Amino acid sequence: MKVLLLGKNGQVGWELQRSLAPLGELVALDRHSTLAGGGCGDLNDLDGLRETVTRLRPDVIVNAAAHTAVDKAESEPELARTLNATAPGVLAEAAQAVGALLVHYSTDYVFDGSDTVPWTEDAVADPLNVYGQTKLEGEQLIAASGARHLIFRTSWVYAVRGGNFAKTMLRLAQERERLTVIDDQFGAPTGAELIADVTAHAVRQTLRDDARCGTYHLAAADETTWNGYARFVLETARALQPGLALKAQEVAPVPTSAFPTPARRPLNSRLNTARLRGAFGLNLPHWQHGVRRMLAEIL
Ligand code: NDP
Repeated sequence: MKVLLLGKNGQVGWELQRSLAPLGELVALDRHSTLAGGGCGDLNDLDGLRETVTRLRPDVIVNAAAHTAVDKAESEPELARTLNATAPGVLAEAAQAVGALLVHYSTDYVFDGSDTVPWTEDAVADPLNVYGQTKLEGEQLIAASGARHLIFRTSWVYAVRGGNFAKTMLRLAQERERLTVIDDQFGAPTGAELIADVTAHAVRQTLRDDARCGTYHLAAADETTWNGYARFVLETARALQPGLALKAQEVAPVPTSAFPTPARRPLNSRLNTARLRGAFGLNLPHWQHGVRRMLAEIL
C-alpha cells in the first residue's frame, strides 16, 4: 500500500510521519518537495499537485498542509482560499480519479461559536473568519468530488515540536508576576500525536469498510478555557520541575475583547466526538493527559 502525506513538517504532519509509517510505503512531502519527472508538495501549485497524485497513484492521500495563520488569513484571503479550499478540492478530484482515500483536517472555526453545547458534525456551519470560511469551502469541495474521504475537524492543536501556547505561557510566567488569559472561549486542547494516531486507526478501518467515510469531530475529551489551560500548564510545570523559576502568581481571567485580533474567534469551540468514538471504537483521552505528556517532554 502507498500513502502520500502532504504538509509533513507541520504539527500534525510531523506526527503523521510516525503514525502512518507502519501502514505501507509512505511518501511524505512538504511545500518545497519536488518529484523527479514532475509533481510537487506545494498546495499553491495546483497542476503540480494533480501531477503528484497521477504519477504516484497512492492508495491513501493525507493532507496535513493548510493556511493556518488565522489572523493573517484576514489580509490574504485569496492565498488562504487556494490552500484551504481549492487545493483540497484538486486533491479530492485527483483522489477520485485514481481511487485513493483522501484524509483531510478541518476546524472548530467552521462554527460561529454560539450556544454552549458541543457541536455535532451535522450542526450548521457559519464561520466568523476567513480561515474558517475557507476551511469550510475545502470540506464542501471534497464532499462534492465524490472521492472516498475522511474529514477530521479538530481544535486547539498543540505539539512538542515548534512553538505552542504552553511554551508561550511558560515563557511569560518566567518574565511576569501576573498573566492575563482569555476565559470566555471554550474548547479542548488536542495533541498532534492523538490526531495522528487516530488517523492511522481510522484509515485502516476505512480501507476495509467504505461505510466509515465521512466527517468526524476529533478532539481530546472534556473542555477548558485558554485561562484554564494556562493555569494547568503552570501548575503541572511546577509539579514536574519544582526548581523552575516561574514568577507568575496569578493567571487573571479576561474576556476575548481584551485581546483584539484581526480575526473573530468563536467562543464555543466544543466538539461532540461521539460519532468518531462510535464508528471506530476509539477512546479519546482527557485533554490534560496529552498536555501533561507534552510538558513532561519539553521540561
Ligand atoms: P501547522 O501550521 O503546524 O502546519 C501546516 C503545514 O502546512 C505547515 O507545515 C506549512 O508549511 C504547510 N503549508 C503551508 N503552506 C503550504 C503550501 N503552499 N504547500 C504545502 N504546505 C504548506 O498546522 P497544524 O499541523 O496545526 O494543522 C493541521 C490541520 O489541522 C490543518 O488542516 C489545520 O487547518 C487543522 N486545524 C489546526 C488547528 C490548530 O490549532 N493548529 C485547529 C483546528 C484545525 P511551512 O511550515 O513551510 O509553513
